[in-house]
Amino acid sequence: MNYEFWFVVGSQFLYGPEVLETVAQRAAEMAEELSRVLPYPLVYKVTAKTNQEITDVVKEANYDDNCAGIVAWCHTFSPSKMWINGLANLQKPYCHLATQYNVEIPNEEIDMDFMNLNQAAHGDREHGFIVARLRLPRKVIAGHWTDKTVQKRLGDWMKAAIGVAVSKEMKVMRFGDNMREVAVTEGDKVEVQTKLGWQVNTWAVGDLVKEMNAVTDAEIDALVEVYKASYDVATDNMDAIRYQAREEIAIKRMMDAEGCKAFSNTFQDLYGMEQLPGLASQHLMAQGYGYGGEGDWKVSAMTAIMKAMGENGNGASAFMEDYTYNLVPGAEYSLGAHMLEVCPSVAAGKPRIETHHLGIGMNQKDPARLVFEGKEGDAIVVSLIDMGGRLRLICQDIHCVKPILPMPNLPVARVMWRAEPSLTTGVECWITAGGAHHTVLSYDVSAEQMKDWANMMDIEFVHITKDTTVEGLEKELFYNDIAWKLKAL
Ligand code: MN
Repeated sequence: MNYEFWFVVGSQFLYGPEVLETVAQRAAEMAEELSRVLPYPLVYKVTAKTNQEITDVVKEANYDDNCAGIVAWCHTFSPSKMWINGLANLQKPYCHLATQYNVEIPNEEIDMDFMNLNQAAHGDREHGFIVARLRLPRKVIAGHWTDKTVQKRLGDWMKAAIGVAVSKEMKVMRFGDNMREVAVTEGDKVEVQTKLGWQVNTWAVGDLVKEMNAVTDAEIDALVEVYKASYDVATDNMDAIRYQAREEIAIKRMMDAEGCKAFSNTFQDLYGMEQLPGLASQHLMAQGYGYGGEGDWKVSAMTAIMKAMGENGNGASAFMEDYTYNLVPGAEYSLGAHMLEVCPSVAAGKPRIETHHLGIGMNQKDPARLVFEGKEGDAIVVSLIDMGGRLRLICQDIHCVKPILPMPNLPVARVMWRAEPSLTTGVECWITAGGAHHTVLSYDVSAEQMKDWANMMDIEFVHITKDTTVEGLEKELFYNDIAWKLKAL
C-alpha cells in the first residue's frame, strides 16, 4: 500500500476568486513542504467551498485504500453546516491542523484585506465546533505549520492513522486454540472484527506440518545464511536451527497465501512438530509479522499493528510478558521475557542463536532461539483486553534499563524496566485495570499515539503515567464503565 494523507482546506465564496486562488496556492505549497518532513505524503486535494465539494472529497477518501486519513484546515472562515453531510459519511481518520500561513502579524501591512485572507483563528473555531457537535473522533494539533513540534506531532498522528489502516485489514492466523483455562487471552472475535476490522481464524497444525514437509533443503540453506548474517550462532546444533528455518518458511508461506500479518500458536498443540517455533517466530517478528504465544491472537494483532505504526513501518515493538520482579528497595524492576519468542527489534546488541531444553509443552527436541538483552530507553507496554461488551486498551509508561544482573543461566531474551509511577503502584494500577501478562512493548510508538489509535477505533483507553494513583484510576474505571455502557445503549 502506498499510504498518503489528504489535505482539505476549508473556505467559502464570500471573499472572491483572488483570495480563493491565494488560499489554494498556499495550501498546495504547505502540503508540498510538509511532505518533505512528514513520514507520509500530504496531498493537497481541494479548497472546499460547498457542501458538494466536501461530500465528494470524503466519499473519494473513503473508497481510496491509499488514503489513510484527512488533514483539514480552514485558511479563511468556512461555514460548517456545509461540512455536515460530508463528515457524517467520514470513515477515515481525521486531523484538524489549526494553523495559519503566516507566523507573524505584519505590523505595517495589516488591513482588512489581510484579515479576510488570514482568519484561521476564527475559521478553525467554527470547524472545531461542528466536529465536536457531530462527536467525531479527531486529533487537534495547533501551531505554525513550519514548527518542528507541530510537524512531529502531525507525523506521529499519521503513524497512528496507519495503525488504523493496518488494523482494518488485519488477518490473524491461529494455529491451535488459546492455552487451556486462560481468561485474559480470550475475547469476542465478532466484537474485534466489528470495532477493529480484525479477521481472526484458525488453521490446522496438521496443515502447517504438511507445509513444513514441503520445504526444500535449498530453501532452508538460504534462510540459515540469513540467520548467520544477522545473528551470532552460539550452538553446534545446526539441526535445531535448520528445523526452525523449516518452520519459519512454512508459517510465512501459509500467512502470505492468506494475507495474514499476524499469527498465534500454543505449546499445547504442536502435533507433528519437533520444536516450538522460537527463532522462527522471532525472525518472523523481525520482518513485521505479529505474534502471540499461548493462542493470544489479541496481542499478536497488536504487535503487528504497533510495528506498522513504528519507524519505517516496522518499528521496535515486541511481544512481551511480565515474568518476575526485583523488589529490592531502590532497585525495583520488572523482568520481561517469554518462553522463546521476543522480537530482536528491541535488542541492545547482536542476538545469539542458542539451543536449550524447554520443559513446557510438546517439544521433543531443544528449540533454537535468539537470546539477547533489551536496549535502554523510554518505552510503553500495551495490553488489549475484552471487558465483555467493549474493548479496553491499557498503556503504561516504562523506562527500560540494561538488566542489572547478567543472568547467565536464563536461556531467553530479556528486557528489564522501571514502570511508572513506581513498580508496586504500577502493578496495583495494572492489575486494577485488568491488564494482561502479555503486552506489546514498544520503544518508538508513544502513549499519545496509542490514545489516538484507541480514539479512532472507538475503544476505551487507560493510561498509567507517573501521575497515576490507584484511587484516581479506580474512579476513572468506574466512570468509564458507566460511560461505555451508556454509549452502547
Ligand atoms: Mn506467554
